[in-house]
Amino acid sequence: MDAAIKSIRPGKPSDRQPENRPAELDPAEFLAAAVRADQPRPARAEAEAAVKTLLAYIGENTEREGLLDTPRRVVEAFDELYQGYHQCPAEVLDRTFGETAGYDDFVLVRDIEFTSQCEHHMMPFYGKAHIAYTPVERVVGLSKLARLTDIFARRLQTQEHLTAQIAAAIDEVLKPRGVAVLIEAEHTCMSVRGVAKHGASTFTSRFTGMFRDNPAEQARFLSLVRGTTR
Ligand SMILES: [Zn+2]
Repeated sequence: MDAAIKSIRPGKPSDRQPENRPAELDPAEFLAAAVRADQPRPARAEAEAAVKTLLAYIGENTEREGLLDTPRRVVEAFDELYQGYHQCPAEVLDRTFGETAGYDDFVLVRDIEFTSQCEHHMMPFYGKAHIAYTPVERVVGLSKLARLTDIFARRLQTQEHLTAQIAAAIDEVLKPRGVAVLIEAEHTCMSVRGVAKHGASTFTSRFTGMFRDNPAEQARFLSLVRGTTR
């Protein structure tokens, strides 16, 4: 795991090391990568043929009736699971309300459910994202934070990068006083293969601006997310 994105240990937010951000986690770079134009890609028939190859590889008879439509279905499922590559995060956040009406606290949306695919195994990981930002002038509709999460989740991801990309996009587009993102997820590449441990949660977080600089705000965010008021 990247040193810059530490797991949160419950009750010990003060344990965090001062942030030392490696170049690969530079927010501007992330955003540039995230909004790049679609890459040239193979034809659908080629993708379906590749699925057929995988079926043969695992020892299947690709001509048996139950599997005849499987390559097509798998590619269709891929279209859905990876549609985030064709969606622009900046566009989602672009429609803002200019009027904060003197509101000067952070806005928190918690328990945003998502499913993503790990880039190491192409297996699902899923869980919840909790996102807060403190607006300066620009406020977005609350559903936009959920939309933003989906755009990044519907790509091949690591949980660390998903966390950082969400924070970077909000930072770059809304220019808020700070962003806090906490993601908790279960990885099927760990629960159904490999060490096969069910129920293990992975936590990643990203704090910018006032959340990074002010431990009290960070702690307030974390206690709201942990739901002491739930
Ligand atoms: Zn994995």
